[in-house]
Amino acid sequence: MATVLKGAPVAAEINQELSERITMLRQHGINPTLCTIRVGESPDDISYETGAAKRAAKLGVEHVKVVLPDSATQDEVIAAICKANNNPAVHGILVFRPLPKHIDDAAIRAALCPDKDVDGITEGSLNGVFTGSGKGFPPCTAQACIEILERTGTELKGKNAVVIGRSLVIGKPVAMMLLQKNATVTICHTRTVDTPTIAKRADIIVAAAGSAGMVNANYLSSGQTVIDVGINVNDEGKLCGDVKFDEAEAIVERITPVPGGVGAVTTSVLMSHVVESAVRALK
Ligand code: NAD
Repeated sequence: MATVLKGAPVAAEINQELSERITMLRQHGINPTLCTIRVGESPDDISYETGAAKRAAKLGVEHVKVVLPDSATQDEVIAAICKANNNPAVHGILVFRPLPKHIDDAAIRAALCPDKDVDGITEGSLNGVFTGSGKGFPPCTAQACIEILERTGTELKGKNAVVIGRSLVIGKPVAMMLLQKNATVTICHTRTVDTPTIAKRADIIVAAAGSAGMVNANYLSSGQTVIDVGINVNDEGKLCGDVKFDEAEAIVERITPVPGGVGAVTTSVLMSHVVESAVRALK
């Protein structure tokens, strides 16, 4: 039976480290501050916002909540971003996406200051992920995958890692981050020929396809560590990952659950970016 890599202990470790850094910042008169910008009343956005607010309150990170109506114009959203960009008391800005259809996502990303882009959506942040320059911040979910792997003692150097999915939010950045850790990385996507055979040969699988239970026994072999990023709803209406957990648990060495895996680490990573941004501003 596989060891289940729960997110909670990883998040607790990150939170503990953050508490120490926040105390240090406060001693310098700085209150690390996250500004969230939500347009409309999407339940997913509200749920993420609530989770972030709770985590911030527990850690002592300030939270400024900006909520605009669904009818807000692109200029109004950009104005809210610019206000937060120009406010030295704000260290991190999170814009909930997808935005309503009448707003151009690229224009929103371009408006955000990369130094405060704590969820890695700007070209500046992605540039940092790809070059390793340290500019901006990687997307929180991608970094949550790396935190789980590293903090549970998974060797990455020289290992074969297969990432299933090539989105800018998860697949591509997580592949670059694994590469930076000296893994040998293959990215599989919808046009890949025979993903199961490629995945079966991997030491590490990061499943981020957004397809319920797609990764079944055909993709898996013994000794593997599997990070399941997917958040899907199955035919019975239950939350599930991209990996068929029951089949995987009997084959692989270690696996993250859904829920309670990657998702449980994401808000802690978000807070760590806010704190890091405040530390960078202090320097
Ligand atoms: P996306 O739809 O933008 O990208 C999915 C990628 O998977 C695409 O690149 C596509 O080519 C690839 N793909 C789809 N089906 C495939 C298949 N059968 N074989 C190989 N590749 C395939 O999705 P995303 O935004 O990257 O999110 C992926 C999943 O992660 C979703 O389930 C999403 O809900 C979840 N997610 C989880 C968290 C978290 O905190 N755990 C955060 C964000 C997103």
